[in-house]
Amino acid sequence: MSKKNQNHKIILSWKESDSTPLENLIVSTDESWFKAKHPVRTKEEINFIASLRPDGCPYCGSKNYIKYGKRKGIPVFMCKSCERRFKALTNTIFDSAKIPISEWYEFFIHLCEFHSVSTASADNRNASNTGLMWYRKIFLVLEGIQDDVVLKGRIWLDETFFSVIRKDEVLKDGKKLRGISRNKICTAVAVDDSGTMLIRVEWVSKPSDRSTLAALENHIQEGSTLIHDSEKSHNALIRKRNLKSEVYDTNMTKKLSDKENPLNKVNHLHSLIKQFMGEHGGYDRSQLQGWMNLLWFILSKPFTPAEKFEAFVKRAISVHKTLRFDMPLSKKHDS
Ligand SMILES: [Zn+2]
Repeated sequence: MSKKNQNHKIILSWKESDSTPLENLIVSTDESWFKAKHPVRTKEEINFIASLRPDGCPYCGSKNYIKYGKRKGIPVFMCKSCERRFKALTNTIFDSAKIPISEWYEFFIHLCEFHSVSTASADNRNASNTGLMWYRKIFLVLEGIQDDVVLKGRIWLDETFFSVIRKDEVLKDGKKLRGISRNKICTAVAVDDSGTMLIRVEWVSKPSDRSTLAALENHIQEGSTLIHDSEKSHNALIRKRNLKSEVYDTNMTKKLSDKENPLNKVNHLHSLIKQFMGEHGGYDRSQLQGWMNLLWFILSKPFTPAEKFEAFVKRAISVHKTLRFDMPLSKKHDS
């Protein structure tokens, strides 16, 4: 039992003796506050957890495990290899009795509707730093989610740029640098005619052959058609993956309406990204790929919130990653 719970018990023990109306008020306020903040798992939640089957032992990875009774309605398993006991949520981001999965669901749905961190966490009666912790946990689960993405057929590609946070800005004669400068973070955005997307942070201010290849090479099927602007570094990709190239000059396309613009498919994604990140202005730039993975997940199949959340929970259970407060948070590159 955590320290907080113990304190709670002590306060509640007033109830046993004759208490004054003030004490009663404090007890009931504290009780409802505690229940609001840490609701117990409902019957439905226990049923849901009971329905989950882990891929393998969270400690050694062995798939050789057996059922080993139940605890508070939740099945316990025992690993035949390392003989340790575990439950479906052991060593996952949900491995905390404090936050029921139903609260995660609420938070997640708000996210999918592009609510900012403070709104989403306020709705869940949690402090906003808890909200940030939830994001970090989500990033952890979604890490590498685009690894197996391969775009094919007709592929629209264009870079978008994020500003570094003000304190990291490089000034020239005390003034901001204009255009594509060192104060930008280049991110490759691509989508194919089946709607499959790829959003990869290049961690450079200006795309180079090297950064373009590193971000995209393994995600483009050979012989596809690349529809793009005249960005030079794309040529390296075109050569490497033997692509057909359809070039539209930015000076020409910027005069066209969205509908007429041949790059509209990728431009539309740019504006969704800007809208999404606009709600999270003060985000930690080292987590940018995490944000992009989250947005990719929000915009990709499955589309119904329930199915999306289920896919997320399944991934969370299969990756066995937990985030502790002492974990370094500045992992820059998505593996
Ligand atoms: Zn094991």
